[in-house]
Amino acid sequence: MDFEAFFKGELDELHKEGRYRVFADLERHRGNFPRATRHAGGEQKDVTVWCSNDYLGMGQHPKVIQAMKDAIDHCGAGAGGTRNISGTSHYHVLLERELADLHGKESALIFTSGYVSNWAALGTLGQKILGLIIFSDALNHASMIEGIRYAKCDRVIWKHNDLNDLEAKLAAADPNAPKMIAFESVYSMDGDIAPIKEICDLADKYGAMTYLDEVHAVGMYGPRGGGIAEREGLMDRLTVIEGTLGKAFGVMGGYIAASAALCDFVRSFASGFIFTTALPPTLAAGAIASISHLKVSPFERARHQDRVRRLRALLDKNGIPHMDNPSHIVPVMVGDAAKCKWISDILLDSFGVYVQPINYPTVPRKTERLRITPTPLHSDADLEHLVGSLHQLWARCALARAVA
Ligand SMILES: *Cc1c(COP(=O)(O)O)cnc(C)c1O
Repeated sequence: MDFEAFFKGELDELHKEGRYRVFADLERHRGNFPRATRHAGGEQKDVTVWCSNDYLGMGQHPKVIQAMKDAIDHCGAGAGGTRNISGTSHYHVLLERELADLHGKESALIFTSGYVSNWAALGTLGQKILGLIIFSDALNHASMIEGIRYAKCDRVIWKHNDLNDLEAKLAAADPNAPKMIAFESVYSMDGDIAPIKEICDLADKYGAMTYLDEVHAVGMYGPRGGGIAEREGLMDRLTVIEGTLGKAFGVMGGYIAASAALCDFVRSFASGFIFTTALPPTLAAGAIASISHLKVSPFERARHQDRVRRLRALLDKNGIPHMDNPSHIVPVMVGDAAKCKWISDILLDSFGVYVQPINYPTVPRKTERLRITPTPLHSDADLEHLVGSLHQLWARCALARAVA
């Protein structure tokens, strides 16, 4: 087989559909979120980042940076091993305590990313609990889908956020089979939020455990940044809460928080936890600083929500169509892959505005969009520049405007 020709042929298909991924080559500026320098064609230009998942700018927070510097001075670069073989640093132990406390659970377990935490935890639970049926929301993240697939257990996909469909499917299953409902709180592309309480009620009625991915909510919602379940007083009704250290907490890594026995079980049986080098202690130290700061500081959360409201109001004033939702994610709808990429390219090249286009398969075709994530550190002037730029492009590109 001509492997090279095969690879190139497959890539050509992506190019033809306008969904070949091009990475922006960036250098973020320390302590100066959301500014970055972009490298392109041998040139460098400053841009404002509008699509980061560093939702609160904590990746540039002085406390986080200092904690990471101190940790590297204190114990060096890497962890030096897997968690079991010399790699458990005291920072890991402290971080797991911090996370258990954040979610009001007995225990927490950290992984090298949120992706790995979903894959390893769902994979292990689905494989080891004999006969387990996982009821998975249709829009669950790729990492949850891969974990459930890897588990090779029975899975039932229910319509996104649809309680009637979920109940019908729970009722149709063998009443004696162990069950789990796996879902997210904030869905990252549409920014909608699951009816967590009602899902927990169904879980109680049908004897199911619950697994909630709060990746797009931790740090940002709830009085201490524990997520939507904290905000709604529901944390104790969830069997497993999964989160990331890589988004609002601004660093990297993932985790589950649950009962001591469940965490110990995953710790003891999950291949994706056992056979991999532990996170560098510096990352754990940075995460501790970020989480403990956000537990007691409501400022970032309040300012974040204020920026979101202000952006939506400016978009409305200019007739730029955006999807309404109850979260901090502002999807500006374009509905065409090529146009979406074109707008994003011009914003970057001519306006110093960086918003990555979101195309199929991340979202369905015809719903291509710019996924804008305002942060507490975007100023009024930044917001006005962004919307002014979009306003000009909407006129140039003959895109439909929202009816005021
Ligand atoms: C980003 C994401 C993850 C993975 O988290 P990482 O820490 O980036 O690996 C998991 N679930 C959802 C819903 C996500 O959007």
